[in-house]
Amino acid sequence: MIRKYYLGLNANGPGVFKTLFCHSSSRDLREFNELLAGKYQGAPILTKNGRSALAIALKSYFEPGDKIIVNGFTCYAVYEAVVEAGMTPIFVDISKNDLNFNVGILEKIINKNVKGVIIQNSLGNTVDMEAMEKFAKKHNLVLIEDLAHSAGMKYPDGRETGTVGAATVLSFGKDKSINTITGGAVILRAPVKHAVKAPFKAPKLSELMRARFYPLLCAVCRGLNYVHLGGALMRFLILTHQVEKSADSKLDLVRRPPNFVAKLATSQIKNFHHRGQPKLRDFYLVRDREEVLLKLKKAGYYFNSFWYEKPVSPVRYYKEIQFPEKDCPEAVRITEQIINFPNYYKKQNLKRAREIIKPYLTGGKSD
Ligand SMILES: *Cc1c(COP(=O)(O)O)cnc(C)c1O
Repeated sequence: MIRKYYLGLNANGPGVFKTLFCHSSSRDLREFNELLAGKYQGAPILTKNGRSALAIALKSYFEPGDKIIVNGFTCYAVYEAVVEAGMTPIFVDISKNDLNFNVGILEKIINKNVKGVIIQNSLGNTVDMEAMEKFAKKHNLVLIEDLAHSAGMKYPDGRETGTVGAATVLSFGKDKSINTITGGAVILRAPVKHAVKAPFKAPKLSELMRARFYPLLCAVCRGLNYVHLGGALMRFLILTHQVEKSADSKLDLVRRPPNFVAKLATSQIKNFHHRGQPKLRDFYLVRDREEVLLKLKKAGYYFNSFWYEKPVSPVRYYKEIQFPEKDCPEAVRITEQIINFPNYYKKQNLKRAREIIKPYLTGGKSD
């Protein structure tokens, strides 16, 4: 049985001891750079997080004020990167089949001020990249691949994600498809328009400690949860900045990630080369979601965060964005109906959850 396990933060990813004591030498760093360079065919730049990597990609290929297509179902990190880089996000509605925009939807809204497209492959559902490439060529658009959800996956035509666009952006944050608690990378595959300085400063000690201790603190909270104190401790840790919620990670173009990220990420990438990469999250669209969530909770499943509860998540940042709900009705509807499970639940443990969800499904289930 799955006990109350989830405390508002995710506890998957590298283990307690691996993260606490992982030592990365300069050789590990070199090996990681070579791995990324070989895989994505360009010089990698390591960053503090995924949003910083995305901002570097955007600054490299676009002018301030350019309009950039963004999936109308995304996380605040993407919006932040676009705005920080000086561009204007154009949110585009999504399809309930794969939670991505597609060429049909893009054709209706494209205009000459749009210069780029961020491909998101939501929750690991890849887009029809062949069609997207043709579309981009026709309209003179630069494609940026954001692999936060989809590193190591394949497009329908068999090509691997990150091997098509002008730039490949990776996030190594909590719960992403490569998870080393913190970090990111960008590989600029096409010749750049503007040279952007790579991050050069060492990470702050506080950031380093936060990342190192995160799995341990989560484990302690999980243990304490048996006496119903885990939630309180986690709230305390967040309040005192010993734990940071993923969405609150700051965009930073000067700080490098901790070196241990290189070693952990290398082993995760090699692992999915061997075993293949599962989808980040299966999703279901249901009616009466509150009721379903309550039933799941009663059955021992406990999670209070799914991707995404607003077209740009989390909720606490949604208001500042002025999201064009009128232009993205599907995205709004989907975010009212979607359920997906944190990726630390094992497939076999989700059987009961699927039974609970089944009578409520409205279509658009992925599996
Ligand atoms: C999480 C995420 C990122 C990058 O996030 P960071 O927290 O900055 O590492 C980028 N794109 C998408 C779609 C994401 O979900």
